[in-house]
Amino acid sequence: MLIECDFRIIWYNSNFILIQTLYLNKLTFKSIGILKTGRIIEYYIQIISYLIFNKTMIDKNKTNCLLCGNDNYKFLFHGEDEEHGIEGTFAYVRCKKCGLVYMNPQIANEELAKYYPINYLPHETVNSPTSKQEKSNSKIISAIRAFFFQHDNIKKIPHSIMNNLNLNSKVLDVGCGNGTFMNDIRNKTKCHVDGIDFSETAVTAAKKSYGLNIVSGTVEDLPFPPKSFDLITAWWFLVHVNNPNEVLQSLAKALKDDGDCIIGVPNFNSFNARFFKKKWFHLDAPKHLCIHTPSTIKTMLENNSFRVEKIIYDNNPSGLFGSFNNRYKTKKSKFPSFLVKIFFVFIAITTFFKVSDLIIIHAKKLKNKS
Ligand SMILES: [Zn+2]
Repeated sequence: MLIECDFRIIWYNSNFILIQTLYLNKLTFKSIGILKTGRIIEYYIQIISYLIFNKTMIDKNKTNCLLCGNDNYKFLFHGEDEEHGIEGTFAYVRCKKCGLVYMNPQIANEELAKYYPINYLPHETVNSPTSKQEKSNSKIISAIRAFFFQHDNIKKIPHSIMNNLNLNSKVLDVGCGNGTFMNDIRNKTKCHVDGIDFSETAVTAAKKSYGLNIVSGTVEDLPFPPKSFDLITAWWFLVHVNNPNEVLQSLAKALKDDGDCIIGVPNFNSFNARFFKKKWFHLDAPKHLCIHTPSTIKTMLENNSFRVEKIIYDNNPSGLFGSFNNRYKTKKSKFPSFLVKIFFVFIAITTFFKVSDLIIIHAKKLKNKS
């Protein structure tokens, strides 16, 4: 494997030179001190090097805001992979101009795949032996995650859209994973449905689970003619890409004039996001590269040829249960029943006051846009 490596002289005098090496695709570093005599010593100065390394990495992968391109941001916190325990800390910042929360520095594209383990639930074959095994470092978090993904997304689509779907309709599900939603909407409306996911594991799972042939690839390169689809859905997908503007442009292009788009995203304005901060279940570091508020997703859609019709505040309970577990690390396999009752009342309240964990946006493509 080719290792991208960067050398730099950190410090030198007439007798000594200190060189730092960065192994970028391994995210590791090393400092080497070379004496005038030629003797190489690995130096005690590693701590200083570590500080320099961190700054260097931020400079190298630092990203301007994924929504507005501004480079002025406020640091929020470092998130960690709470579910699968993959090593690393990931800085999240908030853009001072538009308010988008995003990971900064971002993970390089070629590094992204390693943060989706082979047993990542949405990519797994439905009811396969492995899908029933423990998926993460906590049984309870596996159960919460499973519940989240089994939640019936069809029920979240406005009736006005569902009632118009029939045998002649074409639907595209972006980030379709193992194809569960595609199968549901096909069975319910008899429509033609296509799906795309970047994961080969998901492609195999969709085939095995439902006999669906989904496309493996990125949304910027959709292999469909322009204006093909009546409806495009993207459930919890937009947070996984580092180029959301390009993705939305591509979706607008694939939609028919006046076509509908349903986008589900976590809500950083939720009570739980503000209370649990880096332990918030839907932060889901490092897989979530940007986190929206109702305002930022509306702006992003409007910037990319869509008109927002409605924002629905979802009452999915997984965010509260998952965040509570992330914070307090319960060893038990389920929550006590009195706590569950309290949680559900609390979820109803946060949904009523529009500070729930997840939002679903119904947008329409603006007419006369290509
Ligand atoms: Zn911004």
